Amino acid sequence: MRSFVPNEICSGHDNLSGRTPKKVLVNGGAGFLGSHLCERLLKGGHEVICLDNFSTGRRSNVHHLRPFSRFRIIEHDVRSPFDVDATLIFNFASPASPPDYQRDPVGTLLTNVLGAVNALDLARRNGATIVQSSTSEVYGDPEHSPQRESYCGNVNPVGPRACYDEGKRSAETLFFDYHRTYGVDIRVGRIFNTYGPRMRPDDGRVVSNFIVQALQNKNITIYGDGSQTRSFCYVDDLIEGFLRFSNAGKKCTGPINLGNPAEIPVRQLAEMIREMTNSRSRIVHLPRVTDDPKQRRPDISRAQAKLGWQPRVALEVGLGKTIEYFEARLSAAKVAEAV
Ligand code: NAD
Ligand code: UDP
Repeated sequence: MRSFVPNEICSGHDNLSGRTPKKVLVNGGAGFLGSHLCERLLKGGHEVICLDNFSTGRRSNVHHLRPFSRFRIIEHDVRSPFDVDATLIFNFASPASPPDYQRDPVGTLLTNVLGAVNALDLARRNGATIVQSSTSEVYGDPEHSPQRESYCGNVNPVGPRACYDEGKRSAETLFFDYHRTYGVDIRVGRIFNTYGPRMRPDDGRVVSNFIVQALQNKNITIYGDGSQTRSFCYVDDLIEGFLRFSNAGKKCTGPINLGNPAEIPVRQLAEMIREMTNSRSRIVHLPRVTDDPKQRRPDISRAQAKLGWQPRVALEVGLGKTIEYFEARLSAAKVAEAV
């Protein structure tokens, strides 16, 4: 048994380019974040295997990557073991939107627990580095803000979000136990609300909902009074953070918060999106969601110190790019309907 190395000095690098190409497995590679990650890895010269069961992800997210001879797709459910010749593994397979993960709560919990075990077993067999996409939901409805990595959280273990929150918490436990017990080279990154192109228009998360509603001049639906806050990170910033983290050396296990500390109430987000889209939508209030965290804001001092990373894309700029993406998608859908 190897001794546990606490999270000490890590060396951050901006990307993997200039380094020896790696064989990289991206579980959940056809999803929103996974597809951006596959793209960046391919651009960095690596061989990329995207493993996905296409439950919440789409083939169209990675269609443009097919011309790369270094890119391969494997259709598989991470709840069953898999064997892939990879030396770097990103474990991104899990539904992430509350409506998605609550649709099949048992499946969500098992995806996070069995998916982690199967990915960690593979990392152990291959001597690979494995990177976990954990979440700010491990902090539940936090009593402290901003949330530091040392905060153990306030999660309701029997509520409707628990399948995801506790699944991710169990996965973190598994990662650290595989590290302490078998010496597996792990990185645990806690993602705070991330948005951008390739979110599904109907995935139910706040940014995609508000933009699609605004573009269609439909009611913008705020759950509760809209005073709850979130801190939104643009996808390119997040992927950059994960690439640096994956490259940061064995001592840099994490957990590390990856997110944008600029906090905004949901009500203000709705107004901002309505204005940016010149929408005629009304803002309406629906009942508050059970166990919905009232505040969320990452303390990113660890990521800044250990990875030299911080987000660069301001909310207005990221929203602009995301609005453009949804405008194009919605008009393509209209054309297809008309034909
Ligand atoms: P997403 O739903 O777009 O992507 C998840 C991908 O995993 C999809 O392609 C889906 O088909 C695949 N998947 C789900 N269950 C699977 C299974 N059993 N076997 C194989 N593949 C499976 O969501 P996303 O936003 O891209 O999230 C990616 C990861 O990041 C998730 O693990 C999520 O928990 C984590 N995360 C995301 C955010 C965010 O704001 N986007 C925040 C915190 C954590
Ligand atoms: N939300 C909302 N209207 C929507 C979708 C979400 O008011 O149409 C709220 C939701 O209740 C939460 C916040 O926006 O307070 C962020 O929700 P999301 O599902 O995007 O992410 P998470 O709850 O996982 O942070």
